[in-house]
Amino acid sequence: MAPLIRMQQAQRVAIKIGSALLVDAETGQLRSNWLQGLAEDVAMLRARGADVLLISSGSIALGSRVLGLGPGPLSLEQSQAAASVGQIRLAQAYQEALAKHQITAAQVLVTLEDSANRRRYLNSRATFATLLDLGTVPIVNENDTVATDEIRYGDNDRLAAQVTSMAGADVLVLLSDVDGLYSGNPREHADATHHALIEEITPQIEAMAGDAGSDGAKGGMKTKLMAARIAMQAGAAMVIAKGDVTRPIQAILEGGRTSWFIGKSNPKAARKQWISAMKPKGAIRVDAGAAAALASGKSLLPAGVTDVEGQFERGDAVDLIGPEGPLAKALAGYDATEARAIMGHQSAEIEALLGHPGRAALVHRDDMAI
Ligand code: GLU
Repeated sequence: MAPLIRMQQAQRVAIKIGSALLVDAETGQLRSNWLQGLAEDVAMLRARGADVLLISSGSIALGSRVLGLGPGPLSLEQSQAAASVGQIRLAQAYQEALAKHQITAAQVLVTLEDSANRRRYLNSRATFATLLDLGTVPIVNENDTVATDEIRYGDNDRLAAQVTSMAGADVLVLLSDVDGLYSGNPREHADATHHALIEEITPQIEAMAGDAGSDGAKGGMKTKLMAARIAMQAGAAMVIAKGDVTRPIQAILEGGRTSWFIGKSNPKAARKQWISAMKPKGAIRVDAGAAAALASGKSLLPAGVTDVEGQFERGDAVDLIGPEGPLAKALAGYDATEARAIMGHQSAEIEALLGHPGRAALVHRDDMAI
């Protein structure tokens, strides 16, 4: 599919905003005019029918000014404190800018474990699904206040790609200080050529990415390529575009210069492929009624389950088996012990059976490869 059509037809767009766009490097103040333009772009995308998520940096840059830290590199403890002070301002700025368009902002702070650990990945995925279903625009950042070096993403390029995967977005926009990938650094080499479409990240493409990032931002072209790899694996298309214009998303839609990374898959197919490649830890046997419901694209409810085999955690892969034989590979929505406790029961009884409220489905329909 041609790149611009991906943008025009996008159903769920994740947009990564770097610190340099949002916070003035000289004054440390929020660039409100730019933010207003971005909010207009978000409203425009939503009017076109797309869900939008924003992955925004800027908490450390904003907070360090308020606390009078820097200039110069901060210690881990100072960054944590700056993030704590800056994030609350960052979230408020987005909330105010989006409220002018009757859009509700939702804050989500994540750490590396939220995508690395499969159970937590599923939880985060469910949270994003609910927030988007309710019509909000999640504003996502790393939880820098509690993240230490060992458990950090460290850069919001990769974080944005993981959020793209968790939220099932089909397009990831990286708003950057460059308008894409060049064969060399365009500031140093006037003859560097621009690449508008990359369909595979080859060693040659990797060699084009130096490490240089701009002031205040963690990511250079290297982390952008890592992000592209994650996004493409999740079946999403990624675009690098210049962010420092009044309406950066509109500029992309109008055909401005960008670099697109587009693989062969789409988010649904990529997810099914990922699930079918997993080793099952157990099996869930279902009756004929549930087998028919699954075949018609429904989730698996506990009522239709006749047996649970093996030991598995929530998020592990299991085989779904009907009276006639194997039906699907799936990610379990409950661990094996809980699944045994609720099998054969109505979803409304889950809370009484487990002693805590739970999700209605034992396996969500998006978590199956039939
Ligand atoms: N999470 C950091 C912040 O909000 C930014 C990381 C990055 O610039 O990529 O300040």
